[in-house]
Amino acid sequence: MSAIVSDVVVDVQHGDCGKGKITHHLAKTGDYTHVVRYNGGHNAGHTIYHEGNKFVTHVIPCGVFFGIESIIGPGCVVNPERLLEEMQELRDADIDVDNLLSIARNAHVITDWHLAEDSKDKAIGTTKRGNGPAYRDKYGRKGVRAEQVPELQEYLIDVYQEFHHNSESTVKILFEGAQGFGLDVDWGDYPYVTSSHCTVGGAVLNGIPAQSIRNVYGAAKIYETYVGAKDFGMEELLEAKAIRDIGEEYGATTGRPRKVDWFDLDAVAKAIDINGLTTLVINKVDVLERVGTFMVYHGENKFQFDSMEDMKYYITEHLKRDNLEIIFSGHKDRI
Ligand code: IMP
Ligand code: MG
Repeated sequence: MSAIVSDVVVDVQHGDCGKGKITHHLAKTGDYTHVVRYNGGHNAGHTIYHEGNKFVTHVIPCGVFFGIESIIGPGCVVNPERLLEEMQELRDADIDVDNLLSIARNAHVITDWHLAEDSKDKAIGTTKRGNGPAYRDKYGRKGVRAEQVPELQEYLIDVYQEFHHNSESTVKILFEGAQGFGLDVDWGDYPYVTSSHCTVGGAVLNGIPAQSIRNVYGAAKIYETYVGAKDFGMEELLEAKAIRDIGEEYGATTGRPRKVDWFDLDAVAKAIDINGLTTLVINKVDVLERVGTFMVYHGENKFQFDSMEDMKYYITEHLKRDNLEIIFSGHKDRI
């Protein structure tokens, strides 16, 4: 039996808060034996700056950039054709995906039929990558698993054996989440959600004991963004355009402009508590500084501050928890 230690990276807003930056930093410094993507599929877009190059990954965990074994976990849904394309892009950049990447045998597959179904969506504003229909079939017990797909055979892995009966005495896993708390199927703004579990609970579903969880890192932004069909925020206000332009708030997967709103303190507090965060990284502080308006929703009220320092102080005071570290970070800063 191997001992297991797990760290988890989640997003506490609506996705696109810089999980890629945190996982990249942790993978580089954290001495992990595995990096595991635990939910979602190709709907995600993780922007990673690695050795001066920009990569946008969709389903492949960032461990491959650091020579760490990387697994697409059983909580994910995979489009085989898209996955093989993404692998080829990384191979072309001399990244050793062939030796490092595996797919859980029991991960589910996105089929052409799922893509056709998702292409009809208007109500939710999905990314049209087939996620919702693939999870619907999984839970309807009509799904197709990775182990049934000939092209994926050479990459398959049994995560039980890999995590619990590894030749390493201690397996140290970094779990990389996709999407965010506001899009979680249980805790997000249903029905304007994705079809998977974006919380720490989603990581536990991938074959580890709950007691193995050590650190939980949460990504937020100093303002909020959302992509999808529901009304969101201050679309008509001047700052929305400025934030979008300065913050480069366009979807990494679909190129859609992201809707923008102010930081919602209560929503972030709820995500901190439900995920049991140990570190919260609040990104893009420099973007809002350039825009020059400092606003926070809290309770029924909207509070405006004279400076970023005042805003940071207010947020820190009100999100304070025992054992929670809060870090503010700029757009392209390292942590
Ligand atoms: P789906 O996951 O494609 O079904 O889309 C459901 C909702 O989640 C839509 O509002 C999407 O825009 C949103 N969504 C899915 N993946 C991401 C992501 O990686 N970043 C931000 N929003 C996402
Ligand atoms: Mg993204």
